[in-house]
Amino acid sequence: MVKIGVLGLQGAVREHIRSIEASGAEAVIVKKVEQLEEIDGLIIPGGESTTMRRLIDKYQFMEPLRAFAAEGKPMFGTCAGLILLAKKLVDYKEPHLGLMDVAVERNSFGRQRESFEAELMIPGIAEDFVGVFIRAPHIVEAGENVEVLAKHDGRIVAAREGQFLGCSFHPELTDDHRFTAYFVKMVEESKAKNLV
Ligand code: GLN
Repeated sequence: MVKIGVLGLQGAVREHIRSIEASGAEAVIVKKVEQLEEIDGLIIPGGESTTMRRLIDKYQFMEPLRAFAAEGKPMFGTCAGLILLAKKLVDYKEPHLGLMDVAVERNSFGRQRESFEAELMIPGIAEDFVGVFIRAPHIVEAGENVEVLAKHDGRIVAAREGQFLGCSFHPELTDDHRFTAYFVKMVEESKAKNLV
């Protein structure tokens, strides 16, 4: 069984733990840098990206998270987590982790639509997935190695680049665990490859 961590500095942490367990993997809340050594994949949850960034700096997670990525281990950013993973942020000079080759715009569905649900078509994963969007970002530009997984209103809301998975919505807030299960599969495949 693979062990997946959820970065537990801020945000929707417990819901991800529940969703990982429901998808048949072991889950652990990561609050200390040393814990990164014991996990096969990491979820960076939704919440508030600026607050999470501040805590990443405060608890010295920046370089260890980049080292984790450099080992090729899968990382999944949901909502604020996607903002943290992105290589480019619209209207910002510097990214946060700067790992996934996408440009992301924050709070990009407009004030009048702060939160909403939308049925998403995610080919091969879930063709009728209810996405919960809360002050959600979206991907405005995807690099050439990025596979677009889902769009809503013509905007990219889920994508994968090799070991990196990102989405605008909160897959952990419903009882539909298919999107989380897709990440669990990514982690299983990555671990199997490393054992060979
Ligand atoms: N708007 C938040 C941010 O910019 C993200 C919201 C979320 O994670 N639900 O960090």
